[in-house]
Order: sequence, then C-alpha cells, then structure tokens
Amino acid sequence: MDIIRLKPVFKQMIWGGNRMRAEYGYDIPGEDTGECWAISAHPNGDCEVVGGEYNGIKLSKLYEDHRELFGDVEADRFPLLTKIIDANSDLSIQVHPDDKYAKEHENGSLGKMECWYILDCDPEATIIVGHNASSKDELCSMVHEGRWKELLREIPIKKGDFFQIAPGTIHAIKGGTLILETQQNSDITYRLYDYDRLQNGKPRELHIEKSLDVIRVPYEKPKAELDKLKTKNTWFSGLQWCERYSVWHATLSGEETLSSEDRFILGSVIEGECELDGVALKKGDHFIVPADTEEGTLKGSAEFIFSMA
Ligand code: ZN
Repeated sequence: MDIIRLKPVFKQMIWGGNRMRAEYGYDIPGEDTGECWAISAHPNGDCEVVGGEYNGIKLSKLYEDHRELFGDVEADRFPLLTKIIDANSDLSIQVHPDDKYAKEHENGSLGKMECWYILDCDPEATIIVGHNASSKDELCSMVHEGRWKELLREIPIKKGDFFQIAPGTIHAIKGGTLILETQQNSDITYRLYDYDRLQNGKPRELHIEKSLDVIRVPYEKPKAELDKLKTKNTWFSGLQWCERYSVWHATLSGEETLSSEDRFILGSVIEGECELDGVALKKGDHFIVPADTEEGTLKGSAEFIFSMA
C-alpha cells in the first residue's frame, strides 16, 4: 500500500501555544502556533506532498489532476481538512455557516461542519458547544446585552471525548486543550464574541449579524448514526457519521490490515508508532490512503483517527 504523506502548514494565532513542538516534534514557526493544517488542500494552507511519485505537488493540484486516487468522490474540491489545534488560551465564541449560506454570502465557499477529538486537556478544561436561548429573539437580546454566561453551554471535557459541531452551532475551544479536528474544506468563521481582547492593540473583527443569521435555535445535540459506520477495517470504532464525513478512532495492537476499498481515507497517528508495509509511522504523522489500493499491513502499537468524505 502506497500512502500519500504531506507537509503540514502552521498558523500562528492570538490564542496559540508551543505544545506541538514537544508533543509531535513539529518545526513550529513561533510560540503562538495555534493550528497545524495537517491534511489540507485549502488555498489558505495547501499542503505539499512529501516523497513518492507526487513529491512537491500541492494537494489541491493532486486532487485536480489525479482524481483516480480519490475514488468516486465527485466534489469539485478536496472535501475535508484535518487540523491539530493547540489552544493555549480561549478561542473566540464562534459559529460557521452551512454550504448554502456560505455559497451565497462567501464567494462560493463551502460551509463548515466540524468535529473534535480531544487529544489532551488540562484537568479542569471545558469547551463551549451550543446555547440556552429558546428563541431567536432571546438569542439576539442575550448577545446584544452580553449575557454570555447565561447564553453559552459550557461543558467539562476529558481526553478521548468527541464532539460533532454542525453548522449553526455556537462553539469555542477553551485554553489548555489539544484537539484533532476533522472538518469540511472551509475557512469561514463568524466571530460572535472575543472576550474584548486585543491583537496588536486592536480588537479582532466580529461578525455579529452573520452569526445571528446562521445560529440555529434552539440548540439540538447532533446524533451520531453509528450504525452507518461499518467498514472492512473491523478494528476501527466509529465516532461520527454525517452527510459530510465519517470519523473513526482505531487502536492498533499487534497486526491489522488496512483497506481503502472505493473511498480514500485520511489518517492521523495520535499515539505510539508502527509500520505500514515496512514504512515507519509515528505519533504526529498524517497521511492519505488512496482509494482502491491493495490492502496494507500495519504492525505496532498505535492509536489513529481516520476519516472519509
Ligand atoms: Zn469552529
């Protein structure tokens, strides 16, 4: 099995940290590195293929010119984006539009469905997912009056937790959290509240009207539909199936076969190390298994997050 490996793109953020250096050995650009775009074909961070016959080609170009590697996917652009997020302090309270709204209001961009696997967090860490408003009117007055504590649904988290964030869901990753995010290939975020903090002496832009446009009221907890997550890779355990992606956690202990069938797979090693047909993989490595390749054999002791479009 030949996998495609990529060179990550890093993003420095007001809330970022330096944890990815020690945790994954990444060559991060600064002490405020918030995001590693590990598998991305987005114009704001298009990863380059490393090694093999496509060495040096951007992932967007590979998707355009070698569609056979990506099976039956018909999307006009590479559909997914895998990130690691190091939140040293809180991210803004935000929301993403769906495909329909983004297409209309954001130059044809995709909307953003995303999900989080908690790689690690501080003992008292929390996140924000959803809100407590029961009507759009109530939501608007809570936002305009700054009643954030009352509005936001804050929940404690621990390592290994998983959250699905549908478009229209208010959310925020809070400080002391390391996350693997699987999302649609989109970079559209509406910032609702940024704790009145300053970046280079100025507050970051807010998008209150667009946020209020897209926030779904009331908040409803998404369902996982785990019965749809059957795969030939029986050592996978399902985390999420939705119309944009499916996501699994997998634990390798000894030997397993990996097969892609007619769909390509995005893979991230989140713990341990192993070999795939003799090629070494370790914690912090990300790769794509092309569609319709021969089965591969994994040996070692490792944990993975896998996703498919
Ligand atoms: Zn988000």
